[in-house]
Amino acid sequence: MEKLLSTLVENNVKYAVEGKVASYIPELNKADSMSLGICVTTLDGEEHCAGKYEEKFTIQSISKVITLMLAILDNGRENVFKKVGMEPTADAFNSIINLETKNPHRPLNPMINSGAIATVSLIEGENRDKIFERILKFTRKITGNPEINIDEDVYNSERKTGDRNRALAYFMKSTGIIDGDVEEVLDVYFKQCSIKANCRDISRIGAVLANNGVLPWNGERVIPGYVARIVKTIMVTCGMYDASGDIAVNVGVPCKSGVGGGILAAVPMRMGIGVFGPALDTKGNSIAGVKILEELSKELDLSIF
Ligand code: GLN
Repeated sequence: MEKLLSTLVENNVKYAVEGKVASYIPELNKADSMSLGICVTTLDGEEHCAGKYEEKFTIQSISKVITLMLAILDNGRENVFKKVGMEPTADAFNSIINLETKNPHRPLNPMINSGAIATVSLIEGENRDKIFERILKFTRKITGNPEINIDEDVYNSERKTGDRNRALAYFMKSTGIIDGDVEEVLDVYFKQCSIKANCRDISRIGAVLANNGVLPWNGERVIPGYVARIVKTIMVTCGMYDASGDIAVNVGVPCKSGVGGGILAAVPMRMGIGVFGPALDTKGNSIAGVKILEELSKELDLSIF
């Protein structure tokens, strides 16, 4: 497996030159655009990695998977999906247009920024620190890594420049999707996006989802099977934004990307995959990361379809 993964890294790293590292969050622009790494965690607990798999990056939108799990655990599925839809979109991840034009005025799904901000507003906790503490604790649990923390520089960069996200959040406050203090909600959202991880951590989250909510390394159930199922389904239809259909055809497994260059994939009953390649395509997905997943899926016949 290591051999296969190393070959795939070698074959696909060239695609990185066709992409661009995110710069709208200035701190992200410091990443080495030619990095590419991958880890696979199988359900019997084996881990296989290749390339720059130890490099740390901020998980960005991959965090939306984590907060969706917590929001459903706290509120139940009905209450979450009253505030945010389950439908894919052909617009960009930070698009605002549908919030006004669609009726009801709720975000289309929890994987785009508006939907993730609405989702995190539902997580329980006395104040922003307590809410974020719960997110961090849960992330440490599902990665089996007690050292997971945030990247303070990315967090500050994101907070300073997050005006588009502020616009989305204030709009949602005006339509009653968000209750409470918008700045508190945004602060938690900026922090969840700034959580730092590597490919191994991400592949473990994928393995927990692939294993229907049970940690493969010790058999502990952390979420009910139905929550894992909902999250994986939404990842297939919405996780790669307006490229989700393309990825469903060419990779065929639930995936979630982040603008830090990470991709989380969960292959039901088989494995979790974590990929890192910070050069992005025009839709905000890791360009070499998508290519390596396509090739791995072909090699191991991973498509669920
Ligand atoms: N923090 C990023 C943002 O809010 C997350 C977006 C992403 O990873 N696609 O813009």
